[in-house]
Amino acid sequence: MQLDPRSITVMTALMAAVLGAVLLGVRRNCPPTIQGLLPWSLAPMTCAGAAGVYALQGWWPEFAVAQTGNALLLAGCGLFYFGSQRFFGRRVTWRLWGGIALLSLAVLTWFLVRPDYRVRMVVFTGTMTACVLAHARLVLRDGRGFAARLIAGTLLLQAIVLVGRGLASFWVDGAQSSRFATTTVQTSYIASYCFSVLLLSVGVLLMASERVREEFELLATRDALTGALTRRAVLQAGGEEFDRWRRYGQPVSLVLLDIDHFKQVNDRYGHQAGDRVLAGAVAAMRGELRVNDRLGRYGGEEFVILLPSTDAEAARASAERVRVALAAHAPEPGIPPCTASLGLAWAQPGDTSLDALLARADEALYRAKANGRNRVA
Ligand code: GH3
Ligand code: MG
Ligand code: MG
Repeated sequence: MQLDPRSITVMTALMAAVLGAVLLGVRRNCPPTIQGLLPWSLAPMTCAGAAGVYALQGWWPEFAVAQTGNALLLAGCGLFYFGSQRFFGRRVTWRLWGGIALLSLAVLTWFLVRPDYRVRMVVFTGTMTACVLAHARLVLRDGRGFAARLIAGTLLLQAIVLVGRGLASFWVDGAQSSRFATTTVQTSYIASYCFSVLLLSVGVLLMASERVREEFELLATRDALTGALTRRAVLQAGGEEFDRWRRYGQPVSLVLLDIDHFKQVNDRYGHQAGDRVLAGAVAAMRGELRVNDRLGRYGGEEFVILLPSTDAEAARASAERVRVALAAHAPEPGIPPCTASLGLAWAQPGDTSLDALLARADEALYRAKANGRNRVA
C-alpha cells in the first residue's frame, strides 16, 4: 500500500482544524468551572497550522517551512499539556516549556544554517518527547477513567514513535527521510501524528464531558445552602440501606433532628445569620459522623442522619455525640449555640419500608421536643 505523505498531511491539517473548532464549541457550552478547554482547542488548531505549513514544502523556502512548522508543532504539543494542567488545577508551566521550546528552536536554526540533519532531528524529537512524557505523567497521576487512559496511552505511543524517528536518523540519511519521502519511517511518523491529534482531541473531549456529568451529579444531590445531601438523595440512600437490612439483616438506624427555637435565631439576628448558623450546624454535625453515615437536609432546619450498619445502641451513641457537639458549637461571635432535639429509630421486624422508620423517628422527635428539647429520644 502506497500512502502519499503529503496528502495525509493535508488531511491531518483539515481534520485537526475541525477538531479545534469542535472543542471551541464545547467550551462555550461548558460551565466555567471546567478549565483548560481554551488551550485544548487551540492545540489541534496549532497542529493544523503546522501540518498546513509542512504541506507547503516545495512552494515555500525550506528554511521557512521547517522553522514555522516545527515552532507550531512544539506549540501545539505544549498547548495540549497546558490545557491538561489547567483542567487538573495544576500550575501552568508555560514559562519553563516556552523557554525550552525557544532554546530548541535556536539550536534548530543554527543547524539549519550549518546543516546537520541528525542533530536537528535529535533536538526536535527530544524536545517533543520530553513534553509528551511530562504530559503523560500528569494525566496518569491526576486523571482516572477511560478518557485519561486513552490520552495517556496516545501520549506514550507518540513518545515511542518520536524516539523511533530520532533513532532512525542515525542510520537513514537525510534525503531518504526527507519530509515527504515515501519510506516506512516517514509514513508511520506522519500517520501517527494524524492519529495522535485525533485521539488526544477525543480524549480531552471525553474527559471534559465526564467532569460536567460529575458536577451536575453533585449539584443534584447537594443542598446549596448547607452542602448536606438533598432530601431526595438521602432518602434514596436510606431506601438502599433498608433493602440491605431486609435482604441480609444488616442493621440500619436513622435520626431526625430539628434545631430548637430556630425561629428566634432568625427573629433576633436576621435570616442571613440564620442561614450561616444552619451551614455551621451541618459542619459541626459532620465532624461527629463516620464516613459511611449520610447527613441530609429534610427541610428547613430539620435534618436526617442515616446510619448504615448501626444498631440501636451504637446509633444512640452517635445521636448523643451530635447533640453534644451542636450544644457546644458557637456559630459566630454574638450568637449563642443552638441546641437540637433528635428522634432515633432503627429497622425492626415488621417494617416494610423506610417510611416506618421515618414515622417512628418523627414520633420520637416530637417526644424529645415535648420533654424539654436538647435531647435524644
Ligand atoms: P422548635 O423546633 O424548637 O419547636 O422551634 P423552632 O423555632 O425551631 O420551630 P419552627 O419549625 O416553628 O421554626 C423553624 C424556623 O426555621 C422557621 C423558618 O423561618 C426557619 N427556617 C427554615 N428554613 C430556613 C432557612 O433555610 N434559613 C433560615 N434562616 N431559616 C430557616
Ligand atoms: Mg422545624
Ligand atoms: Mg426547630
